[in-house]
Amino acid sequence: MTTTLLQPGQIEAAAGSIPELRLPPADLFLMRARRLEQLAEGHAMGAYLRFAAQLARAQQERLNAGPAGELPSPERLAQCFEYLMPPLAPAGLARPAGWRDTARQLAKTVQPLLTAAGQAALQPVVEGADAWLDEQATWLLDIDTQHLNAAVTPVIGAALQVHWTHLARQLDPALVARPEHPNLCPVRGAHPVSSVVRIGGAENGLRYLHCTLCSAEWHVVRAKCSNCDNTRGIAHYHLEGGNRVVDAESCPECQSYLKVIHQDKDPLADPVADDLASLTLDLLMDEVDFVRSGVNWYLMQGHS
Ligand SMILES: [Zn+2]
Ligand SMILES: [Zn+2]
Repeated sequence: MTTTLLQPGQIEAAAGSIPELRLPPADLFLMRARRLEQLAEGHAMGAYLRFAAQLARAQQERLNAGPAGELPSPERLAQCFEYLMPPLAPAGLARPAGWRDTARQLAKTVQPLLTAAGQAALQPVVEGADAWLDEQATWLLDIDTQHLNAAVTPVIGAALQVHWTHLARQLDPALVARPEHPNLCPVRGAHPVSSVVRIGGAENGLRYLHCTLCSAEWHVVRAKCSNCDNTRGIAHYHLEGGNRVVDAESCPECQSYLKVIHQDKDPLADPVADDLASLTLDLLMDEVDFVRSGVNWYLMQGHS
């Protein structure tokens, strides 16, 4: 493992014409599924990556079907903009109608791909009472790992993603304010999965943090800790001999790291898929005592 020191602003153009917020594209989950299938080839975690790919395909089907859920009123959206508040923060928004049916359907779709034990582990979602499903969602959104049932996390998370992504796609990026903390999604107000260096158009070469829930992406300059705002001593770790599509940006101030997924090294790279397929880098970061700041719901299952 080797490190490279970068200075803030070394890469990024001066702010001004930069698109601060990218809302999710219509084919988000399909692209993710294809990337997962590609990464699964010859991968030690191939079976799990293929499972995640099927889950992502099922998410795309649900997204295409136009899941239920209503944006807050124009008055509420204007209020959020004025006070720099994320308009779709789960705390201020009723959970979109139908999300539980989405969860049950996703579970049924991916069950046949699992071992008998894996199928049994998802059965509580298929049969889940509304109250039980709501409780799981609350724990997931609060990142309450004490209570979370890790086996159902990917499916519960996937269902919530479908509904929030659908809502986020309906927003006008110009009417979403930027919260003061760089680690918070302007749409949803919580943690990123990872970050991605985008290619093409006005976003070329810029780094965006990718939201766990609503799939929106917000711009944060490279070589700046998104967890604590520090810009000193930021180092990039990558696997020796790897293709450098994924590296880990670490901060000596808060001892955390966030992965950077490089589309400039591979145009198909995806902030969720490539994060999932680079667990080895997480193990190495753990060895050098850095704590992961990104949250990947696909990753929380004890897969059998
Ligand atoms: Zn978000
Ligand atoms: Zn930091």
